[in-house]
Amino acid sequence: SVVKPSNFLRAIIERDLEQGFQPARHFGGSPGDAAHHAAGPLDPAKIRTRFPPEPNGYLHIGHAKSICLNFGLARDYGGICHLRFDDTNPEKEEQEYVDAIKEMVAWLGWTWDSPEAGDGAGGTTSHLFYASNYFDFMYRAAEYLVSQGLAYVDEQTPEAMRANRGDFSTPGTDSPFRGRSPEENLTRLREMRDGQHPDGAMVLRARIDMASPNINMRDPALYRIRRATHHNTGDKWCIYPMYTYAHPIEDALECITHSVCTLEFEDQRPFYDWLLERLAEGGLLARPLPHQYEFGRLNLSYVVTSKRKLRQLVQEGHVDGWDDPRMPTLVGMRRRGYTPESIRAMVESTGASKTNAWIDYAVLDGYLRADLEGKAARAMAVLDPVPLKLGNYADIFGSIEHREPCSAPAHPHVPELGQRQFSLGPELWIEREDFMEVPSKGYHRLFPGNKARLKYGYVIECTGCEKDADGNITAVLANLVPDTKSGTPGADAVKVKGVITWVGAHEGIATELRLYDRLFTEAQPDAGDRNFLELLNPDAKRVVRGYLEPSLKDTPPDTKVQFERHGYFVADRVDHRAQSPVFNKITGLRDSFGK
Ligand code: ATP
Ligand code: MG
Ligand code: MG
Repeated sequence: SVVKPSNFLRAIIERDLEQGFQPARHFGGSPGDAAHHAAGPLDPAKIRTRFPPEPNGYLHIGHAKSICLNFGLARDYGGICHLRFDDTNPEKEEQEYVDAIKEMVAWLGWTWDSPEAGDGAGGTTSHLFYASNYFDFMYRAAEYLVSQGLAYVDEQTPEAMRANRGDFSTPGTDSPFRGRSPEENLTRLREMRDGQHPDGAMVLRARIDMASPNINMRDPALYRIRRATHHNTGDKWCIYPMYTYAHPIEDALECITHSVCTLEFEDQRPFYDWLLERLAEGGLLARPLPHQYEFGRLNLSYVVTSKRKLRQLVQEGHVDGWDDPRMPTLVGMRRRGYTPESIRAMVESTGASKTNAWIDYAVLDGYLRADLEGKAARAMAVLDPVPLKLGNYADIFGSIEHREPCSAPAHPHVPELGQRQFSLGPELWIEREDFMEVPSKGYHRLFPGNKARLKYGYVIECTGCEKDADGNITAVLANLVPDTKSGTPGADAVKVKGVITWVGAHEGIATELRLYDRLFTEAQPDAGDRNFLELLNPDAKRVVRGYLEPSLKDTPPDTKVQFERHGYFVADRVDHRAQSPVFNKITGLRDSFGK
């Protein structure tokens, strides 16, 4: 009953469902075929989407868009979303990436079964597939195309092939190998498969139209020779299908109904349709065939989301790895402290459109705050500490050994989270910016002669400060005002305008604080032909040492907290230890970027 913003994809799916959804009669591939088995006992009368990552890198925020869109459409319309590893390019793909992708899809909140479990089993709306399971079928389909004169083996050099493809203004030129007979091409293709030719010696190409205004239709390559060990099929193959050939077949074999991809694939759609039509005509694929629909990419401001550029940031040491909290990778964003709920909400709010969208980082931060506001426990932390000495402490409490207990709700609106306990002593840590020897106009915190309230504690009156030989302030001096303890009768009799957060020096937990900001100084760092590396924000990571109130003792890694007045922080999931805490800043309490 959650109302989702409508978009053109929803409109298409609703129209298809309304017009009486025509299911695929059977799953592609012949019985006994790996492809046929991969599809499993699925209910064919459902919409089917897929998220098809290539396991050659880490997922980023743009992928989260595709994940939530495809899984979300399947969920909302009672369909199935296939998590499919598009693992047809062995040189760049690794098991490490397969595992990392699964982990992040699950982290975003989506689950899957193996296809054997059947549709809807265990409440999941997703199944897991590997494109490499269809290599046998893809090869058989290639032999079929060759037998029909629809594909040929081309022995031109890559340079000649490129030159003969032509460009937008010039039609292409036929390859001298284009006229070979199907028999001759079949012999060559089998030689390619059987390892009788070196890598790169020849390719299999579709025979379509070298003069097509769409360059993708000028006899695109279907197979190449590449001796590379595949993470799934090992050394069984020395030829591998090209993405443009493999992808439509994967969709068809899995009976995908709505193949949703980003706009840059629009020019590929004619080949997608051409290939599937030919294979359906030959009886290799069942109808109805899948349809491709393109939507605009999601780009987040102040980051880059090209895998190549992200890899460059990591390899050249501009960041501390793929999971650096400044990175827009999902592992990086998780480590930074962004929650899956906030990412899902941001991504869903952007819907799906026909243009590439730029979303401001501030929008994501807004969803993060909305998510954490109601659930993150509060605590006081001092990020830029200077000692505050309470001169009359022993006069008020009888001894400097005395500890005056104070408490505060862990969350102002969630009483179930209980109370935090901490205490006053003669010396506290406060923020350096909470004292000014000569106050500026409108400054209400500590300056000589002024009163302010220690939050959850007493009103104090500032008496001055201590300095070192260079004139740096080394301590702030103040006296407690009697009978002003928060929560006691008459506490409000002394009116003050400033409130000071603090941590007792006797019980403060020393901590490392990693203060993160935007990775780049400009919203679209890779727009135009600028060098994005020159726009890196040198202040995107600042490491300082501060103090935490004792309620944060034994905080487990990955716990999100709101440091009062400072913003949202998370105990670092990698480096945080109870004995040596490390907290990352996720974002401030309100958008202050650029102010
Ligand atoms: P990159 O361009 O960053 O290298 P990719 O598109 O090559 O990424 P894939 O693993 O092929 O990476 O992507 C899987 C799916 O995610 C594809 O369907 C792709 O269209 C989609 N996707 C990638 N980036 C974005 C984005 N910024 N917004 C929306 N969808 C995206
Ligand atoms: Mg890709
Ligand atoms: Mg891409």
